Amino acid sequence: MKAMGSIPAGYGADERGALVVAEHPVGYWMEKAGSSPIFLYDTERVAAQVESFRRLMPDRLALHYAVKANPFGPLLDFIAPLVDGFDLASRGEIARVSHLDLPKSLAGPGKSDKDLEAALSAGVTIHVESESEAERACLAGRRLGIQPKMAVRINPPFMLKGAGMKMGGLASQFGMDAPLVAPLVKRIFEHECEWRGFHIYAGSQSLSESAILEAQRETLKLVAELTAEIGTPPPEVNLGGGFGIPYYSGEKPLDLAPIGEGLDAALGELSGDFADTQFVIELGRWLVGEAGIYLTRILDRKVSQGETYLVTDGGLQHMLAASGNFGQFLRRNYPIKLAERFAEEGDSAAHVVGRLCTPLDLLGDAVPMPADAKVGETIAIFCAGAYGLTASPQEFLSQPAAVEMLAQSSG
Ligand SMILES: *Cc1c(COP(=O)(O)O)cnc(C)c1O
Repeated sequence: MKAMGSIPAGYGADERGALVVAEHPVGYWMEKAGSSPIFLYDTERVAAQVESFRRLMPDRLALHYAVKANPFGPLLDFIAPLVDGFDLASRGEIARVSHLDLPKSLAGPGKSDKDLEAALSAGVTIHVESESEAERACLAGRRLGIQPKMAVRINPPFMLKGAGMKMGGLASQFGMDAPLVAPLVKRIFEHECEWRGFHIYAGSQSLSESAILEAQRETLKLVAELTAEIGTPPPEVNLGGGFGIPYYSGEKPLDLAPIGEGLDAALGELSGDFADTQFVIELGRWLVGEAGIYLTRILDRKVSQGETYLVTDGGLQHMLAASGNFGQFLRRNYPIKLAERFAEEGDSAAHVVGRLCTPLDLLGDAVPMPADAKVGETIAIFCAGAYGLTASPQEFLSQPAAVEMLAQSSG
């Protein structure tokens, strides 16, 4: 048997041993969906994450949801009243939240004129990533008769250490190198566009409180230096995020308390120039990742050269990240369980696979399963709430689509 990540805290079983989500056993949700596989998102868990952010992080911080982590419509509707804004990465994401009245920003390299116009028309702040993009945003504003709201995304000269994905300290297509920022902000003023401040994103999926805090401190230092150079305090500073969740064996959940205390102290040390600045943290995965479970039925059970294979109706076309092919260096096992027998310790190793014609389609590699796990039972893969379905090549092999749904106790 190979190691796998820990099941996120708080999931339990009913008296028959089946995994319970939002007060119902998984069978209830599978039946309600009327198909398999499904992605189930437990809204109570999302609300609990927001609540712990509010409790442990400084009061003056705004919390934005990074929509790309999970853009499922009902989830966006659920989270909208709980957060202070949406961070968007495409025109498609602007459309997905167009009915939700919250502050919004658009980041990402290579915004087309259509993207810029969509942002302007929807009142979205544009996080510009180059001089030419800023020029085009100003021109688009003139064409539409709308004054553009622009923040400058900075390519930070430091990185979020130990992050799953580093996005700083190196040459990059994201943001602008620090020395170019002040001159660009001056040009934004000259063009009579509205300057909204700075956006700094140093990395993703960090489980180190000290690394996150260090990146935040460095961010504030950089912001102070650039503000001195510009001579006007920024209305808003997006400090990035990068809060991770544990996926693999040996990983532990992030403790927000020391981050909150450290950031509170660092904000307290800022000069009075920043009294009116709104500081923002943008999070995707940490808010929704552990709330999601991917449920897929066993279609076949076979043994090859002494090893057991559980062939499911799911696969990497829905849940690429669990197969280890979403930018991971090493393939490791996500937390995975037989859903109807959640309470049972798996005492036998099984390979959980999909039905694509590639050996990459491996959702669980020699994971612990009951020795008699059988056709018709359901495999639950945890940590499926972020970068699941929309981060997977769904069309590959034209297998049936997965259904997404919210799990709510009232439902
Ligand atoms: C992807 C991304 C996020 C969200 O990252 P998570 O790891 O899901 O929290 C936030 N901001 C930017 C700029 C991003 O590219």
